[in-house]
Amino acid sequence: MHEIQHLIDGHTVAGSSGCTGPVFDPATGEQTAKVSLASAAEVDAAVASAKAAFHEWGGVSLARRTKLMLAFRNLVVDNSDEIAQRLTAEHGKVLDDARGEVARGIENIEFSCGVADALKGTHSEQASSGVDVYTVRQPLGVVAGITPFNFPAMVPMWMFPNAVACGNTFVLKPSERDPSAPMFVAELFQEAGFPPGVLNVVNGDKVAVDRLLEHPDVKALSFVGSTPIAKYVYASATSHGKRAQALGGAKNHMVVLPDADVEMAADAAVSAAYGSAGERCMAISVVVAVGGVGDQLVDAIKIRMEKLVVGPGTDPGSEMGPLITKEARDRVAGYVQAGADAGCEVVVDGRDQAFDGDGFFLGVTLLDHVTTDMSVYTDEIFGPVLAVVRADSYADGVQMIRDNPFGNGAAIFTRDGGAARQFQRDADAGMVGINVPIPVPVGYHSFGGWNDSAFGDTTMYGPEGLRFYTRPKVLTSRWPDPSTSSVDLGFPRND
Ligand code: NAD
Repeated sequence: MHEIQHLIDGHTVAGSSGCTGPVFDPATGEQTAKVSLASAAEVDAAVASAKAAFHEWGGVSLARRTKLMLAFRNLVVDNSDEIAQRLTAEHGKVLDDARGEVARGIENIEFSCGVADALKGTHSEQASSGVDVYTVRQPLGVVAGITPFNFPAMVPMWMFPNAVACGNTFVLKPSERDPSAPMFVAELFQEAGFPPGVLNVVNGDKVAVDRLLEHPDVKALSFVGSTPIAKYVYASATSHGKRAQALGGAKNHMVVLPDADVEMAADAAVSAAYGSAGERCMAISVVVAVGGVGDQLVDAIKIRMEKLVVGPGTDPGSEMGPLITKEARDRVAGYVQAGADAGCEVVVDGRDQAFDGDGFFLGVTLLDHVTTDMSVYTDEIFGPVLAVVRADSYADGVQMIRDNPFGNGAAIFTRDGGAARQFQRDADAGMVGINVPIPVPVGYHSFGGWNDSAFGDTTMYGPEGLRFYTRPKVLTSRWPDPSTSSVDLGFPRND
């Protein structure tokens, strides 16, 4: 069976640990490949390569970095379809979603092509007589990224293009569930002409992550994944003296006010809850129906759900694919049962939909009259399950968001500008949408939640990403009085 290997020092390297993990096609349930799981020694080899590459790469001109990044961007654009196909084959998302993922990744590469402008420092002339003070931002050295299964191409592209454009070298540890797409992107990066070792990929699991966390030559670590692992990674990385940013899970609320355009809100709820089988950290998983809007909204969502086509991601007619693994599918189905047992109304039960074959499919579920003590409300389900909570007022809706430990995204649907503006201030979340259910920032802003959805003080990509991947150096210089110069400077000046 085909084995997905590592990319170290510019070469594909066979795993030597003797450990592998299975990779499935979630649409058929078949194992299609195995992935090498790196040992600590293999991680060390990748870090050593990155460290050696940093000696030169850290000093390469901004012009050359930009040219190479543009070449990489063009290769990713030219190979978008191939990347999307790999995403669908191992993640299961429908091809349109996969293409969207690649497009959002490209945005981040494009942002990093502008690093020459974005990294300009600041300069204070004549801070004191004859004294200038200026700040430059310098790269950190070897930095690492650990990424989740749900955006296997995009999330790495949130990280390494900016890190490398800033002059760092990078070690990526992608999710072991769907490693082919990030490996292919890394091969394109190599093909663009970057020197060997600037980007290394080690496939692996906890063993590889733990080695990156403790490795003395890894200066900073970016993580995206579930909250418990994000907390662990952040605590461990910082205890080893590293700079760290760790984005975690989510439970995103969409508040629908009585004056909202219900058809628009229902369209948004369905695409944001069930797109990519709900396996998005910005998925809407709770709709808060305020006042009397609940019945009409639930009806409108239900009508749309009946038309939603669930099937293999490669089928152009499919709007939603399978879940990532059989275990994930069964876990999500267990939540639907827990909701029913807890007394909420199961308006549409995804378990009722039958599918041919052994794919990890589950139909879409809508739960109404969910209360905040139920596990379907408190837990991140990460599947195609939407919970509707009824609230008496706007204030109750905002309070729910504040009481929820997560704080990734939040959205409001209303026609009232004053209510929308108030929500911008009130929502206890890092990314807020006004009549936009999934407010993922464009590549020249930055992405990150609050509270249990993110650990560390910088968010990811955009200007915050550049701040994370560089450290400031402040220079203070004084030169002798120009009147004493051996060159005739024609003093006095300033006339
Ligand atoms: P995960 O936490 O299981 O895995 C993420 C990464 O951590 C993987 O590379 C994995 O190999 C590694 N890992 C897993 N267990 C580990 C352990 N015990 N020790 C060390 N490393 C470990 O997450 P996932 O299931 O791949 O992804 C889904 C989760 O990611 C969801 O919770 C989702 O909300 C979250 N997510 C968050 C964002 C965000 O921006 N906030 C974006 C995408 C996904």
